[in-house]
Amino acid sequence: MTLRALHALRAALAAGLLATLLSACAGSPSRYPVPALPASKLEQLRADALLAVPPDETGEFLDTDLVEVVSLDPSLRLDVRYAGADNFLRAPIYPEARVFLQRPAAEAVVRANRALQAHGYGLLLFDGYRPWYVTWMFWEATPAQKRNFVADPATGSRHNRGCAIDLTLFDRKTGLEVPMPSGYDEFSERAHPNYSGGTAEQRAARDLLRTAMEAEGFTVNDDEWWHYDCRDWRKYRIGNAFFKDLARTR
Ligand SMILES: [Zn+2]
Repeated sequence: MTLRALHALRAALAAGLLATLLSACAGSPSRYPVPALPASKLEQLRADALLAVPPDETGEFLDTDLVEVVSLDPSLRLDVRYAGADNFLRAPIYPEARVFLQRPAAEAVVRANRALQAHGYGLLLFDGYRPWYVTWMFWEATPAQKRNFVADPATGSRHNRGCAIDLTLFDRKTGLEVPMPSGYDEFSERAHPNYSGGTAEQRAARDLLRTAMEAEGFTVNDDEWWHYDCRDWRKYRIGNAFFKDLARTR
């Protein structure tokens, strides 16, 4: 090999290494707060989570009435990331891609979807009711210094109460997810609902989603443009039922 060829090879290797490093920096460390778990560890975590006991809650609560949101409006779309490997644990957590909410919240999402249709959009649902044991798994899988990204199972999450929904817009003409200033479940400042970066179109789409959801009484999470809480989330108990045990009917 000539000296010139050697230099060319070195430059190519350096460029390749740089590209790899850059893509690593742009990938998991900012997108997800947690290193991927080995499958055996995850299964142990699931087994332990199923044995864990939700906190005992005292006080007055409304009856739980979880309904499958698409049963109220089949034009809603689903992309339940926790039912596949494209989530922060990189493994399927839910056995089924289904989204449930307490009935008043589900009906409010349907109304928001109808309002958005006039603008050429529909709602794409990522996640709704989340059994408490899954919150326990998320907490245990997350290093202590990153736990501000996940809910504490000692108090449960609004998803556990069937009163929080993660969602975005899809374009009714193309069927494609509408670009937002950040991806779903991206743990960065770009995920803040008031983030001023990204394109004007991305911010407009995010703000249109917010307007439609707020009109139905939802409030957006301070750190996640895709997460909305229903007004009455405090009135519902933490749930731990499996999707398979929830009714399929209206
Ligand atoms: Zn959420």
